[in-house]
Formats: sequence, structure tokens, C-alpha cells
Amino acid sequence: MSESDKSSKEMTLPPKSSFGDWFNSIIELGKIMDVRYPVKGLYVWYPFGFGIRKRVYNVLRELLDNTGHEEVMFPLLIPETEFMKEAEHIKGFEDEVYWVTKGGLSPLDINLALRPTSETAIYPMYKLWIRSHTDFPVLLYQVVNTFRYETKATRPLIRLREITSFKEAHTVHATWDDAEKQVDRAVDIYIQFFKRLGVPVLISKRPDWDKFPGGDYTIALDVIMPDGKTLQVGTCHHLGINFAKTFDIKYEDVDGNQQYANQTCYGISERCIASLISVHGDDKGLVLPPEFAPVQVVIIPILFKKNSEEVLNACKKISDDLKSIGIRVETDASDLRPGAKYYKWEMKGACARIEIGPRDIENKTAVVVRRDTGEKSFVPLDDVTVFISNMFENFCNDLYEKAEIEMNERIFSCTDLKEVSSKLGKGVATIYWCGSEDCGKEMEDRIDAGILGIPNIDNVTTGNCPICGNSTDKIVYVAKKY
Ligand code: ZN
Repeated sequence: MSESDKSSKEMTLPPKSSFGDWFNSIIELGKIMDVRYPVKGLYVWYPFGFGIRKRVYNVLRELLDNTGHEEVMFPLLIPETEFMKEAEHIKGFEDEVYWVTKGGLSPLDINLALRPTSETAIYPMYKLWIRSHTDFPVLLYQVVNTFRYETKATRPLIRLREITSFKEAHTVHATWDDAEKQVDRAVDIYIQFFKRLGVPVLISKRPDWDKFPGGDYTIALDVIMPDGKTLQVGTCHHLGINFAKTFDIKYEDVDGNQQYANQTCYGISERCIASLISVHGDDKGLVLPPEFAPVQVVIIPILFKKNSEEVLNACKKISDDLKSIGIRVETDASDLRPGAKYYKWEMKGACARIEIGPRDIENKTAVVVRRDTGEKSFVPLDDVTVFISNMFENFCNDLYEKAEIEMNERIFSCTDLKEVSSKLGKGVATIYWCGSEDCGKEMEDRIDAGILGIPNIDNVTTGNCPICGNSTDKIVYVAKKY
């Protein structure tokens, strides 16, 4: 048995039904991140994982660039004097900030925060840049790392102390209504983004005690993970004029009066990749939409002494044809047994596998196996390229539809808290809620789970708040949360 055969035997992927173990293993076996970096909560992207990351963030950039946003880059370090200006904001982040207090051996005059988010880095500059109503809208974003001293158990892609891939947008508008419209647009962009990943999301308005510190309101996107817990994968915040007052961001309106500007911010982190991996992956490993798979097609020559040259030539021809239409293809002519090769490339989420052996050459066909369904087809050698490109056209949409059905099966409409408790762990429950903070918090205590928020669906019926009994037409999502 060769060395690589042995290692693939030793490390096997637990079934996805043991989701926690499955996730931890796939991060390593799928070569996403190396968790052995000697600082807690900091992880290293492998080249393969980074290849997925690069493609995912390219889509996010494309969607933002096509909707009037411009990419910028602000410094990592934020002076304490700026960071401490907004009282609510500080309260929300003070437990989590890393501080730089020395330059070489000398203490710094002003301590510098490693950004946990960039409002306090960007808004002092907005004060300098914004002058007039003609400057609007300002739609800027950056993709940067941020640091948060997490005290809960850290986990790659989900809870990190260095968020390596934080896309944050910061927009400025004349009026509160303009900013509100921008929040709606941001939510739409994010829904499109997750649709490209094939990942369905739940949209809801966070309760006031869970909104962005210093903002007016927060709309959030959550994904139901395979273990029934929800993962917050995106947030869009209306900041009102709160930060504009703190940072003195004013503009001259059409009548020549000075007004505070209205702002929004919205962010997505590498949790989007956690959801991509978790929603589609299976007991064999990664399943990726073709757009994000570093290797989309793997060709496996089945070699015997007889005819091996013809087999390799046929593989080369198919590889060249696929490359000519822009498909990322690799031919695995290594010494591994075919079974070990299948295992390896299924783990890595290659969307299709093409097998060609001497008998296939005689029949002028290839065997094509689709990764997500396992469907096996015998395809004439000359038709393989067309067959693959047709398969890829629907691949992501098929993943999305399957995931959407699974998500909808895990949303349970409940009428009392006992029923809610029985559903948590399987997915998300909905329940009536009068909207009061006291009732909301008591509900969270009694079910030992969190309120996600109020979904943006028109609810036509009314029911009773399970705490105070008052009649209401509001429902909320509740779930066990990551
Ligand atoms: Zn109530």
C-alpha cells in the first residue's frame, strides 16, 4: 500500500449526521484550513481552501461593483480616541478588542485598536470627504481581516479571533428614507449572492436588543445548518444619523443648510463559506457549485498494460477540449488505485468525474459521474464537453432547490412554547410575539434559545403572544444559534 493510500484510510470523514465532527474533519480533509497555527482562533487557509475563498469573494465583488459600490482600503489600526467616541458602539465591542500599546519598546501616546469592524476607522474620513448633497450616495466597501477576542469556543470559518475575510460596506445618504432603501438593496444583493452559492437564507429584522451597537435597526440573514442551529451569515444595518453626530459627518442640503448624513453598513464574513460547505457537503466530502470548485472535472484514466497509451491520449484530448471552454480540469494519472482516486476527488468536491479505460476506448465512450447525485452516464467521447457544460448549467440551481426544500422542511410553525422547545434542534420555529422586549427576553429564557427576528413575510392571521397573551399579527423566528 502506498503512503498516500494509507493516509486516506487513516483519516475518514465522519457521517454528516454527526455534524460537528463532520465539519471539523472536512475543514482538514477537504484542505480548507489548517487549524494547527499556534494562536487560538487563528487559522491558515490552504491553497485549495483559498481557491474557494477567492471565487466566492469575486462573486461578492462583482455584485457590489455592478450596483454602484467602489472598493477601498482603510488601515487596520484605529486610534483609541476615535474608537471610544460612540458610546453604544464601544459597549458592543469593548470585550472583544485587541489593543496595540507599544511601538517597539516605547509605549504609544495613543493606544491603537486592531479593527473589530471599521466604522470608527472610516467615519472620521467621511467627515473630511462629505460636503454636499451632490456627494451622495457614497457606496464604499472593503474586504479585510478584522480581529475579535472571542471568549466562546473558536472554530474555523464560524467563530474566529481573526476574521480573515470580512467584506464590509459603508454607505452615506442624505435622508433616513434613502438609507432605508439602501438597506433593502443590500439585502437583495446578499440574497443574490447566497443564491449564487446555492444557499437559501432566512431574512429577519433583529430585535432591538440584538441590533448593531449604535445603529437604528438590523436586518440579518441566517442559514439553517445541518444540525438545526442557525448561522448568521450576513447583516445590514441602518445607522440613522447616530454615527454622523458622533463623527460630525454633515452635508449642505439644497437650501444651503447643514444636515447630518444618514448611514448604513452591511457585512459578510467567511461564514458564507462555512454555509456553502455545510449545506451542500455529504458523507463523501465537499459538494461545490461549479463556479466555486477549484477543480471542476477530474479525469481518471483506468490503466492496464494493454492500451494504456490510447487511454492516456483520449484523456488528454478530453482535458484539452474542456480547458478550451474554460473548465478547470485535472487528470489524475497518479499510482493510486481508482477507488482511492474517487475518494480523494469526491472529498475535494470535483463536480464531475470522467473515467476512461480500455473498454471505453473500444466503445468510444467515457463514464461520467456527477458529484452531487452520484448519477453515472455513458457518454460518447466526442460529446463529453457538451455533456459537462450542460450539466454545469443547472448544477448550482439543482443544489439550491434541494437545499431550499430541506430548509422549508425545517421551519416549524408553532403555537406554544412547549411545541417550540420540541422543534429546536431540528430547525427554526415560528411563534407569535407581541413585540415587547420583556416578553421576548422571557421567551428566550424559557426555551433556552434565541429570537432571530421578525421575518419580512406578510402574515395574514393573528395569534397570541405566548408570554403576555396579547393578540398580535407579528411572528418571530426562534432557533438555537451558533
Ligand atoms: Zn407579549
